[in-house]
Amino acid sequence: MSSEFNLASRRQEYTFTSTEREVEIGRKIAHRVQEELPLLADETVQQRVRGIGERIAAVCDRRELVYSFAVVEGKEVNAFSLPGGYVFVNEELVKAAATDDELAGVIAHEVAHITARHAVKRYEAGLGAQLLQLAALTARQGEAAGGLSIAAQATQLAYARQDELEADQLAVKYMKAAGYDPEAVIAFLEKLGELPDDPPTYMPRGIVRPRYAFTHPYVPERLRAVKEALFGVADYVDYLNTPTQ
Ligand SMILES: [Zn+2]
Repeated sequence: MSSEFNLASRRQEYTFTSTEREVEIGRKIAHRVQEELPLLADETVQQRVRGIGERIAAVCDRRELVYSFAVVEGKEVNAFSLPGGYVFVNEELVKAAATDDELAGVIAHEVAHITARHAVKRYEAGLGAQLLQLAALTARQGEAAGGLSIAAQATQLAYARQDELEADQLAVKYMKAAGYDPEAVIAFLEKLGELPDDPPTYMPRGIVRPRYAFTHPYVPERLRAVKEALFGVADYVDYLNTPTQ
């Protein structure tokens, strides 16, 4: 058990997971993800996402990590990150983002989940224990481990409401620092809220892959939090849309 001050969350945090261990876990899962989700062959798109990602990483709160940014094939508007610095963006999300600023907003949000160690906290709380066991198991047994694939589990990692709001507010901070327009976070969240409610798609092994809206719910609350972070006040309509808790 060690304790350190997390610059992103501004909290003193107690953890069983060293940065070295976190990177090792992330690398293991990222490897599995890349076995199951093919990288998009379009190098121009990869470079665009990598370029934006590197600008965000250069100003984020955990610059000691080596970040990697990859675009994977997939028809869902989705993005996710893994502990240790791995960010994945679906090609469909790249298409859905109108500008580099909107794309930067999504990438900054995913980087924020890493800097605030949201996934590590979940693992330590036992919520991700199965994922870790699977990572260890498949590392030893390869495909034979069977069951729900690690990649599918990783893409379905949903965070707690508080973590989502924190990631959005950090995204605003990182975007400002990197010279992107932070108001693009609002534009993309609004777009997310308007995505058609089509059924989730299925991977070949019968695994459900949710849309970004499922792994990133709470859109009305997130809009309100981002507007408060940006302007100090939210629109009245955002309060109306926010469920009372
Ligand atoms: Zn998120």
